[in-house]
Amino acid sequence: MTEKGFTIDFGSSEPTTTPVAAPAANVAATTSHSKLMIFGSGPAGLTAAIYAARAQLAPTLLAGYEPGGQLMLTSEVENFPGFPEGINGPDLMAKMITQAERFGTVIVNQDVERVDLSKRPFRAWSAGREFTADAVVIATGASAIWLGLESETRLRGRGVSSCATCDGFFFKGEEVAVVGGGDTALEEALFLTRFATKVHLLVRRDTFRGSKIMVARAQAHEKIEIHFNREVVEVIGEKKTEALKLKDTVSGATEQLAVGGLFVAIGHKPNTELLGGALPVDAAGYLQVKEHSSASAIDGVFIAGDVHDHRYRQAVTAAGDGCRAALDAERWLAEHAV
Ligand SMILES: Cc1cc2nc3c(=O)[nH]c(=O)nc-3n(C[C@H](O)[C@H](O)[C@H](O)COP(=O)(O)OP(=O)(O)OC[C@H]3O[C@@H](n4cnc5c(N)ncnc54)[C@H](O)[C@@H]3O)c2cc1C
Repeated sequence: MTEKGFTIDFGSSEPTTTPVAAPAANVAATTSHSKLMIFGSGPAGLTAAIYAARAQLAPTLLAGYEPGGQLMLTSEVENFPGFPEGINGPDLMAKMITQAERFGTVIVNQDVERVDLSKRPFRAWSAGREFTADAVVIATGASAIWLGLESETRLRGRGVSSCATCDGFFFKGEEVAVVGGGDTALEEALFLTRFATKVHLLVRRDTFRGSKIMVARAQAHEKIEIHFNREVVEVIGEKKTEALKLKDTVSGATEQLAVGGLFVAIGHKPNTELLGGALPVDAAGYLQVKEHSSASAIDGVFIAGDVHDHRYRQAVTAAGDGCRAALDAERWLAEHAV
């Protein structure tokens, strides 16, 4: 039964090519209980749904505010296996949605607002509705923290990125900039030296927050130029990034820096508010899993993707995680005869 069409919400950024319309979502309006509910519709949640649905668990997937997840914000994905020519991010996610629905996943385009994981069946509330399930997979991802500039949002996917591993390849032979002073920014800058002719590392303060070894590597690299006390106040360009307007945070003076790409590496925020502290997180706020599994601290609750993984943060690792979580959930349900 179809509840409403699957909405593709690009937020305020746009992909550079037109996405295909995603298939309609469906929901069994009278049934709020399922064996398994999955929170999140990125590669982790949808892969968990494909596996669980093929195992006859008829999962309910609450897709959240960003149906399709982070890849809806990008145009070309060239490192997801099986697509030698590359694939547009929204097209890849539309295929995953179709695949999950084909085997009986019920997709609900709503955010989970709060949960009760203290007893079984587990409960989740969303837009005035209650959903219950015997097991849960949490795959709510992590959102990049952006600078908050209008021009940055407008040029996202057009030179502005938050992922050097994903997009660095597109900047071969160009000068690029990385914003940030921590290990992630240093790592991104070093990675980008493989493609860019020069990497400008823009640090807001007069010192790095990153580890000594990473700082030393960046300082020693001939392609990296470090600019302390610099803040990006505007990304310049109509259809693509052409330059940055920088402000000296000490003198207030402004200058223009010609670059074809801007990588914002000031952190990610794992999406865990819905849990209200029900599960333990690490120092950076990421959910914790038991070693060599997707199991959380609560029996019957499993975790997948970027919401716990701040090391790899890739579509294929998130998908692999989704597979693990579904298999773990399936075995757990069988062992507990529910
Ligand atoms: C611009 C960009 C380009 C990228 N390019 C590549 C690339 O080329 N190759 C690659 O491998 N990786 C790429 N990545 C990284 C990749 O997108 C992520 O690693 C991957 O999407 C993580 O998958 P996930 O399922 O864990 O989470 P996400 O994709 O972040 O999905 C999280 C999901 O959780 C949902 N959600 C959040 N809160 C709630 C809630 N309260 N209730 C219900 N649902 C909720 C959201 O709606 C979303 O559907 C890119 C990322 C970005 C930002």
